[in-house]
Amino acid sequence: MKNISIAIHGGAGTIRKDSLTKTKEQEYKQILQLALDAGYQLLEQGATSLDAVEMSVSKLEDSHLFNAGKGSVFTANGTHEMDASIMDGSTLEAGAISLVTGVKNPVQLSRLVMEKSDHLFLSGEGAQDFARSVNCEFRDEDYFYDEFRHQQWLALKGSDTFQLDHSLSKEDKFGTVGAVALDKFGNIAAATSTGGMTNKMYGRVGDSSIIGSGTYANNLTCAVSCTGSGEYFIRGVVAYDVSCLIEYKKMSLAEACTEVIQYRLKKIGGDGGLIALDNNGNIVLEFNTQGMYRGRRSVDGLNEVIIYQ
Ligand code: ASP
Repeated sequence: MKNISIAIHGGAGTIRKDSLTKTKEQEYKQILQLALDAGYQLLEQGATSLDAVEMSVSKLEDSHLFNAGKGSVFTANGTHEMDASIMDGSTLEAGAISLVTGVKNPVQLSRLVMEKSDHLFLSGEGAQDFARSVNCEFRDEDYFYDEFRHQQWLALKGSDTFQLDHSLSKEDKFGTVGAVALDKFGNIAAATSTGGMTNKMYGRVGDSSIIGSGTYANNLTCAVSCTGSGEYFIRGVVAYDVSCLIEYKKMSLAEACTEVIQYRLKKIGGDGGLIALDNNGNIVLEFNTQGMYRGRRSVDGLNEVIIYQ
């Protein structure tokens, strides 16, 4: 079997052992393992890294536990506006969508934009219309309703505070999901999907749908998917910065991820993390918060899901 591998994340933040019950912890681990295995099995069957990241992210979108797809947080208007993107490291082709409502799997829509439209990034009504034209699966509002998320929103409704997912207080937990993978052809890919931030202003777009900020993949360097305070990840052009440090400064994957997350992002006040891999099968899970829902699996027998530091 070639050097196949995959890594996933379900958000970073103030995730401590004392903030999750044993049952909740098990629930999170179970879904993370399921998403990891679903992507990995495709790779084992000879599918592309693009298929694998789309599959893993779709599985996480289908769970109410993570802030993407079904589990998306509420905007200030009590609606859901989702962002997603995907990138193929072998061709540098990419697809992205933002501000979509009702689409069951935004990551699948981003791939359809890449493959079936003449554009790279569609937003709002245009993205919705495109989704209908390519027969994307839609769900009604009930599907996206979650009592916990609703309570999160009610606590902030009417204020100008917006909050990252699962937060106890402003800016300390993020629930975006993402995946990076390496297939048997030696190609890498990345995908990211999010509901954004609780009580965000309608029309707000985060880093998850922005190629180079929340998602990036290039066979020459690495595949990266980010989670954290989106505004800072956009300013830091985080995912592309990791790639640049490898390409231009000849840093290793681990050095580049540490430099960007622990120094450059922190310096401008950003917190969060990323998952990254290269086509030698190196995997890095880096974050500057207390925890990150994450997992990795590769052909050498590595297979783990981790939550805390
Ligand atoms: N990065 C996402 C955003 O700003 C939030 C997250 O990672 O949970 O929309």
